[in-house]
Amino acid sequence: MGGKLIYESVNHKVYLFEELTPASAVQANQYLIIHRNEAILLDPGGHKVQSKLYSDICSIFRPKGIKYIFLSHQDPDVVAGINYWLMTTPAVAYISELWVRFLPHFGLDSKMEGRVKTIGDKGLRLILGGDCELQILPAHFLHSPGNFQLYDPVSKILFSGDLGASLGQDYFFVKDFDSHIRYIEKFHKRYMASNRAMRAWVQAIRHLEVDAIAPQHGALFMGKDLVDRFLQWAENLECGVDLISERDYILSS
Ligand code: FE
Repeated sequence: MGGKLIYESVNHKVYLFEELTPASAVQANQYLIIHRNEAILLDPGGHKVQSKLYSDICSIFRPKGIKYIFLSHQDPDVVAGINYWLMTTPAVAYISELWVRFLPHFGLDSKMEGRVKTIGDKGLRLILGGDCELQILPAHFLHSPGNFQLYDPVSKILFSGDLGASLGQDYFFVKDFDSHIRYIEKFHKRYMASNRAMRAWVQAIRHLEVDAIAPQHGALFMGKDLVDRFLQWAENLECGVDLISERDYILSS
């Protein structure tokens, strides 16, 4: 139980929570970034995770210090517990302007709506703990049409949402990229929209100094070598509409 500390320096900590999802649900990672006396919670997830995550967080940080909640996109494993988190913390939540009006369908109370802010298509910056400038980066169509990632310039971790996600592996840190491909390939070919979107994303990310990629499902890519391998792989992957043909729209008999 409890979060795994994946980065620590003076005034800055990053925790991963990876074992809270029930077995029948797709495994999901949650992350907490703490800078000085403030924190941001990333993709907190749904009802089956929320109370366990809350008690795990309480053992490392006071929930009253959670200033922001970042929602990378609209899926239930990201946003379904949003009302719970707004009730139990003073945080302001951020989600794409495309998705904000979908949150009441997940039980967001009207009195909480004012604490949900929208992210325009170009992203934005958030200041944590007075001097840590987090970047909310556009990553549209990877996979959601209104999709964002979060870059932490202190840890140099890119929190990549569903991009980089793996399913079915029995480890939480990638060791060997080549043997990891079998756990990421099928997911990316179906869930990511197109190679054009992948290439645009890779070009943008290469301008950043990224030491690790931390997806919302499965194993993390820790270290520049694995980050580079993943970027190379993503850049060359045909996926989504690249692979669609007319016969895919015919009902099987
Ligand atoms: Fe998703």
